[in-house]
Amino acid sequence: MTSTADGVVIVGSGLAGYTFARELRRRDSAVQITLITADGGEAYSKPMLSAAFAQGKTHADLVQKAAALVASDLSIRVMTRHQVEMIHRDRRRLTLRRPDGTGTEIGYEQLVLAVGADPRPYRVEGSAAAGLFTVNDLDDYALWREALTPGARVLLIGAGLIGCEFANDLVTGGHAVTLVDPAPWPLGRLLPAELGIAMAAALAKAGAVLHLNRSVTAFTPGLAVLDDGTQIPFDRALTAIGLVPRTALAAAAGLAVMRGIVVDRLLRTSDPSIYALGDCAETEVGPLPYIAPLLAEAKALAATLAGTETPLALPALPVVVKTPALPTTVCPPPPGAEGHWRVEGEGCDLKALFVGPDGQPLGFALCGKRTAEARTLATEIPPLLA
Ligand SMILES: Cc1cc2nc3c(=O)[nH]c(=O)nc-3n(C[C@H](O)[C@H](O)[C@H](O)COP(=O)(O)OP(=O)(O)OC[C@H]3O[C@@H](n4cnc5c(N)ncnc54)[C@H](O)[C@@H]3O)c2cc1C
Repeated sequence: MTSTADGVVIVGSGLAGYTFARELRRRDSAVQITLITADGGEAYSKPMLSAAFAQGKTHADLVQKAAALVASDLSIRVMTRHQVEMIHRDRRRLTLRRPDGTGTEIGYEQLVLAVGADPRPYRVEGSAAAGLFTVNDLDDYALWREALTPGARVLLIGAGLIGCEFANDLVTGGHAVTLVDPAPWPLGRLLPAELGIAMAAALAKAGAVLHLNRSVTAFTPGLAVLDDGTQIPFDRALTAIGLVPRTALAAAAGLAVMRGIVVDRLLRTSDPSIYALGDCAETEVGPLPYIAPLLAEAKALAATLAGTETPLALPALPVVVKTPALPTTVCPPPPGAEGHWRVEGEGCDLKALFVGPDGQPLGFALCGKRTAEARTLATEIPPLLA
């Protein structure tokens, strides 16, 4: 069966897909826009997933708009629960599959991939049977929330940005949380030692038990074994060890793929009629899996497709870490940048500047009261993409 679309076809109803649709419609009231998504297409704010539990929010509370409402607001067609299985670049068509196994085809003039990223799987002895959860979308959140009985002991693997946020949220929500990470301090890739140690102390004070410099090497039912032999009993386990851009669809179509789907400054893939943005895309400064870059990408791409070629430009983009136990803002230096951290402050109110060999600040991290300086400091950091 064939379903005609053509015009601009977007794959993905996350913040990247919907923001791009809104920005394009704002600039072009006539263009035909079709958005296809494997999920239910509800508009929601993904960052809330790691800050909603303590507030008692259900999956339904997080939905900002149902797919049908977004479709009518933006005058677009939204096809929910349709998986894009294949891109036929020669014919500019897509093969779609519904959950009941039936398929259809749809055409496009311009295709925009906003397919996001998958949680990195944690694989050790016994992990397949350990019932490990990940929370990366609304459906995951619903399952996770349902599985968490009051007071359940939670094992959290990964003390990066998302892991720390979940740890803070879950202890505030009344759970006994054990956090395990091989790094010597939480947010090991984003914070220098002084601020990381302050974060560890703040999470511990909030009630989490931290096992740093440690990894889970095996699971038996209800029990995790660490590499130093420590045994941790748990009721539920959540992993947050990073995200992997979804590249399989693009790679199968022969598009250039590295860590993400490779795009140029116009968000164009190696096929000039296919674009990518959000967590799935790899810009010349690498994948940028945060909200601020995808908002800038959506605006630039919408302007380009509406007729004004607009290369992506990105200022320094600080990210707020949602850990009320220790308010923190990070603006990491570019990957591979040379330099060193210069730390000042007292107690939990700390400021760290990452300074290059010529004294130029290239990034920063702020904790406690010093987070108030983020906006001003961001103006002193060179743009990510000038
Ligand atoms: C728990 C959590 C907290 C976060 N907190 C913050 C924060 O505080 N600040 C910040 O800046 N960033 C944060 N982030 C990152 C930020 O949320 C993401 O960068 C952003 O939401 C990614 O949006 P996206 O649209 O690119 O991808 P997604 O939201 O993952 O959307 C991908 C879409 O593609 C669809 N899809 C995928 N494959 C197919 C297919 N083959 N066919 C059809 N549809 C398909 C999916 O169904 C989905 O609709 C957080 C992330 C998580 C997981």
